[in-house]
Amino acid sequence: MTDTIALAIHGGCGTLPLSELSEAEWTEARAALAASLRAGWAILAKGGSAVDAVEAAVRVMEDSPHFNAGHGAAFNSEGEHELDASIMDGATLAAGALAGVRRIRNPVSAAKALMRRGDPLLLAGAAGDAFAAQEGLDMVENAYFSTERRRKSLASMKIRELVGTATEASEAEKHGTVGAVALDRQGHLAAATSTGGYTNKPVGRVGDSPIIGAGTYARDGRCAVSGTGKGEYFIRYCVGHEIASLIAYKDLALDAASAAVLAELSEHKIGAGLVAIGADGAIVAPYNTEGMYRGWVTPDGIVHVATHAQVEIAGAA
Ligand code: ASP
Repeated sequence: MTDTIALAIHGGCGTLPLSELSEAEWTEARAALAASLRAGWAILAKGGSAVDAVEAAVRVMEDSPHFNAGHGAAFNSEGEHELDASIMDGATLAAGALAGVRRIRNPVSAAKALMRRGDPLLLAGAAGDAFAAQEGLDMVENAYFSTERRRKSLASMKIRELVGTATEASEAEKHGTVGAVALDRQGHLAAATSTGGYTNKPVGRVGDSPIIGAGTYARDGRCAVSGTGKGEYFIRYCVGHEIASLIAYKDLALDAASAAVLAELSEHKIGAGLVAIGADGAIVAPYNTEGMYRGWVTPDGIVHVATHAQVEIAGAA
């Protein structure tokens, strides 16, 4: 038992440049981040579990059109949505994950249901959709996930592909993901991540978000991590597990461990960011892009949200 509870979220490192959205749109995005934090914090403050808190926080962002997960997810190369998500319980190392699902409104909740079942840990494609339907979760048509903004991103990525400038696309055109990490009153850590992947990704491509140890990892006594950025590199570096290992075996502090891994990723000139919580409730949210949707609640219950460098205090949780 500890007294400390902690919660941090990200809404992806594919943040648009400040000039590309109106002030009203930025305010709306920050409000969605604050709503996500309040949903998670309400659970932690009542003595609820870190697992339930990260699920609740991620669900709010999946339902918001501002983030690349659930409603508002990126389109694949065929103009459809294939979603990846996972959740991990740091107390037991139990985890659940779905890859390439097409009809689950809140993939993070399906990941939690799979984790509760215990085995298998990861389901892909139609099997994941069928599992969620069987569990009685909310099912939707694939078009439910579509938004105008993501459609424009797909059109612009298709043009870039034709003229050979795809690698020059901005992080905002390509990426996004949502995630949450939490420490509950029992001292347990949890992490969850959910994404539409990247715009114009090949059909069947699976990123790091459903890969335990890469885009999502939680282990009591070490840390909980949720990542965002070019998933292929998060998988190669086993980012979540690597940070936990640097803490366990090299005795690094959470900030130093996260910075070390982010520095290695950055050598590949890829966009990357993450949120992580240490066993003591310490929070970090580093990124190497222009901005990263992110937020956290300080131990005194104050909500902090940010899209770029400036952090806004958004009142009590
Ligand atoms: N990590 C996600 C993926 O590769 C995308 C992102 O976070 O931008 O699927």
